[in-house]
Amino acid sequence: MRELVDKLQEERRLEKQEWICLIQDRNESLDEYIFEKARSERELYYGNKVYIRGLIEFTNYCKNDCYYCGIRRSNKKLERYRLTESQILDCCDIGYELGFRTFVLQGGEDGGYTDEKIVHLVQSMKALYPDCAVTLSIGEKKKESYEAFFQAGADRYLLRHETANANHYRKLHPEELTLENRIQCLMNLKEIGYQTGCGFMVGSPYQTADTLAEDMMFIQNFQPHMVGIGPFIPHHQTPFADMEGGSVELTLTLLGLLRIMIPNLLLPATTALGTLHPRGRERGMAAGANVVMPNLSPIDVREKYLLYDNKICTGDEAAESLQHLKQTMKDAGYEVVTSRGDFIHK
Ligand code: SAH
Repeated sequence: MRELVDKLQEERRLEKQEWICLIQDRNESLDEYIFEKARSERELYYGNKVYIRGLIEFTNYCKNDCYYCGIRRSNKKLERYRLTESQILDCCDIGYELGFRTFVLQGGEDGGYTDEKIVHLVQSMKALYPDCAVTLSIGEKKKESYEAFFQAGADRYLLRHETANANHYRKLHPEELTLENRIQCLMNLKEIGYQTGCGFMVGSPYQTADTLAEDMMFIQNFQPHMVGIGPFIPHHQTPFADMEGGSVELTLTLLGLLRIMIPNLLLPATTALGTLHPRGRERGMAAGANVVMPNLSPIDVREKYLLYDNKICTGDEAAESLQHLKQTMKDAGYEVVTSRGDFIHK
């Protein structure tokens, strides 16, 4: 097994069968081997720096009905909210003072936030905070829309591919959503010039070592700038309420392997990881991550952006606890920095 990790480090890619072996036969001692390599690869590009992103969950309206997601349109029990531009700029103001130099606008696919409104919002953010990066994570849009947002100044875009296997994709989403379109969107984003992020949930229903291998193959071919992965966590008001959740351990292994595959990757230790384990974020860093995304949304809406049950939203993941995050990271040997934290090209 160690030979496979060595091969990945040397060639930055593996065959499908090799991925399957690594995923199926992962174990603690192999993990240590992976994490050590991952850390030394990260060191070469990013040193011991931790980049922070202020996450603003600006709307939980969504026209989509993904079976796993708590803010899916069929969840009638959810109270919906949509922040105004001025509320969002207030979040940025607080975030800037705290030292954030990247703002991530994430939301459901909300028709109430038209392209024009997004363009205006991005322009305002870039005018007020020209030294900050703006990341969008607002789902599948037309290429022209992505172009307009980019023209307005958006720097990065996160759009998890969710799974690279079309059959698996079918089992996670209603018919009107296709893997083909998702991938097309990702290609458009990269072509336009965004620092582009894909990713998937670990342990999503019907996922297998085989589909995970396809995810890793997709990523090695697509060569994104960022990859977001986190454990699947069931939400009680979704069709997947009674499904089993994903594992922290496998998520960590995959973070390590992603780091070795693409050493200069921007790789967050995600909120879902922090939700399942009190030290999830530090463990994510130890496995090879280099980004954390504290929550900058106004406190009163945080509990309404529940993608999954028990999502942490008032503890350490919150931007207000930045001082504590800095200290924990420092104790673990990392330095939280105030900079945009752009992708470093080879
Ligand atoms: N509407 C945007 C943002 C989606 S929310 C988009 O389509 O890209 C961001 C991510 O949260 C999703 O891509 C999904 O991978 C993750 N997510 C959703 N429900 C989840 C759950 N139950 N457990 C863990 N992660 C979940």
